[in-house]
Amino acid sequence: MYDYKDASAPRILAIVNQKGGVGKTTTAINLAAALVEQGARVLLVDLDPQGNASTGLGVAPAQRQLSTYDLLVDEVSISAVVQETSIPGLLLCPASSDLSSADIELVSREKRSFLLHDALRQPDMAPFDVDYVLIDCPPSLNLLTVNGLVASHAVLVPLQTEFFALEGLSQLMLTIREVRQAANPTLRIEGVVLTMHDLRNRLAQQVESDAREALGDLVFKTTIPRNVRVSEAPSYAQPVLTYDTASKGAVAYRALAREILARNPLSDRNKPEEEDHGKEI
Ligand code: ADP
Ligand code: MG
Repeated sequence: MYDYKDASAPRILAIVNQKGGVGKTTTAINLAAALVEQGARVLLVDLDPQGNASTGLGVAPAQRQLSTYDLLVDEVSISAVVQETSIPGLLLCPASSDLSSADIELVSREKRSFLLHDALRQPDMAPFDVDYVLIDCPPSLNLLTVNGLVASHAVLVPLQTEFFALEGLSQLMLTIREVRQAANPTLRIEGVVLTMHDLRNRLAQQVESDAREALGDLVFKTTIPRNVRVSEAPSYAQPVLTYDTASKGAVAYRALAREILARNPLSDRNKPEEEDHGKEI
């Protein structure tokens, strides 16, 4: 099995929030593109049956002969499933709609929570030589998301700055705690990123200050503004970084990537972390 104590092994981040429409997929695509721009090689694993990350990167359903479904359910080798994208250095493990039945098909498997964990640690991951794996999780805390959490070093939580934003976080933290106890004791919280932020909106400002007060350093300094270019980019099958490279959205995702790379430099990305970021909320 691929040795994840080896400094050359990638850092694996699950992008999780059980709410839909909060910016998980947008963050997966654009953070991946920003990390690549800053010198990393990145594999994006699309774990959502809707396949929005795959579509947004220009891989249409017809081009997805093998998908995350085959990786998990049929244990097809990862080298057969991963595809290149139009962005050099950004690789994709695409999703397909059959992933929506994976939950039920996998229930009786003994290792059902470890399937993605094991797939990402196959020896045939090594030749891809990626620095980061980003996992775009579905909008629920189902078995697919649990696979994402068990497979990962840390969790990145996009939080839309709107009225009930913080409410769902306690359920997510409970799930993270359960996964730590049952399967992945070293799982960290990488951070919470505020998305679709509108600085002119008083409510959004209030949600930001509440989040920073409750979560402290867990909240990234960078916030992602609401920006129409960000929402247009997927229909041009591109990250906003290439679709409109000077847009506010592109600038923000670059800043987010810099924050993440500053904490986990490419040179020593798998040194054990000293602090436990697992704050209870
Ligand atoms: P999730 O994956 O959590 O369901 P998405 O990333 O698909 O959420 O985002 C939901 C919708 O919001 C999409 O239509 C997306 O284009 C839009 N969106 C996400 N982030 C932004 C942003 N910063 N500015 C404008 N629209 C955004
Ligand atoms: Mg999504």
